[in-house]
Amino acid sequence: MAKRDYYEILGVEKSASQDELKKAYRKLALKYHPDKNPGDKEAEDKFKEAAEAYEVLRDAEKRQRYDQFGHDGVNGAGGFGGGGGMNMDDIFRHFGDIFGDMGGGGGSPFESFFGGGARRSRTAVGTNIRIKLKLNIDEITNGVEKKIKYRKKVVADGVTFDTCPTCKGRGQVTRVQSTFLGQMQTTSACPTCGGAGKKIKNIPSGADSMGLVTKEFTTTINIPAGVADGMQLSVQGKGNEIPGGIAGDLVVVIEELEHKELTRDGNNIVYNLHISFPEAALGTDVEVPTVSGKARIKIEPGTQSGKILRLRGKGVPDINGYKTGDQLIYVNVYTPTKLSSEEKTLMKQLLESENFKPDPTKEKGFFDKMKDFFN
Ligand SMILES: [Zn+2]
Repeated sequence: MAKRDYYEILGVEKSASQDELKKAYRKLALKYHPDKNPGDKEAEDKFKEAAEAYEVLRDAEKRQRYDQFGHDGVNGAGGFGGGGGMNMDDIFRHFGDIFGDMGGGGGSPFESFFGGGARRSRTAVGTNIRIKLKLNIDEITNGVEKKIKYRKKVVADGVTFDTCPTCKGRGQVTRVQSTFLGQMQTTSACPTCGGAGKKIKNIPSGADSMGLVTKEFTTTINIPAGVADGMQLSVQGKGNEIPGGIAGDLVVVIEELEHKELTRDGNNIVYNLHISFPEAALGTDVEVPTVSGKARIKIEPGTQSGKILRLRGKGVPDINGYKTGDQLIYVNVYTPTKLSSEEKTLMKQLLESENFKPDPTKEKGFFDKMKDFFN
């Protein structure tokens, strides 16, 4: 079956804001939620489809890739957009996050629907841990292996469990109520065990009421080349543990450190080179900083201010494996602000020279300069 367009699935415009996406998704998720449509395969498919669409579109980078390349651009990314590769547990896990994001507060009908629904009969999941990771331009360009020290909650040694007496280990409780409309059956997470199906029997001293203790851990993560400020990398199962369930994720948020001479513009690295007027006129060799060291470049005689030189492939690799960026060198010709009387005399002589009168017709226009490449 051909995959439907994500915007079409959510019924929103391509220009939809994050808010509009959330609203549209919320509506569909409620409509097709399995609790409301037990045994309805079509509803389940719609539920999955909406989750996948929202999962991609709410993420600015995935959304951009999708806009540019369609389903091919996001397939396989993060294991979620892959279609078919996800299961209900995944979705409920993601829903948990999404609804956490929504910040609707405990009283919303959503909370009971999903907060509970998400964990009912499914595995209980520990909370995620978010940490910031500062990377310099060299690490971002080349990729890096980082050792990260962090604190997480783990189940204390000596914690023992009993089967939960309320739900008998099922993790969920079903209530039948008589209403105007007849008998209504509602299923929700077990209030005693929170969905784990187990109840703590013995908590060793030093552990909290959940049987957890906080410990320091070290883990090594591989940061791929080309990450950007604000990107998040999730390491599954390295977050907080939960008794009877599985651990949450460790979410690493990338923070870019500024370089004192180089700036990043997308996948390109920009360097502002300042040369003197005689250097621009006579030509010269200069050394410029690059991400991984230095490079010598030749300035041709008669170089204009504003010229852009390019070191091909010396920028940041694309995170998705597209073209690696370049280093762009913007040439600025420095005009002295003070002149000695001797210099003034020299300059006045040059002023008379026909050769020194600007003649833009001899020069390439500004836009042509943009196309000029170095090496
Ligand atoms: Zn229970």
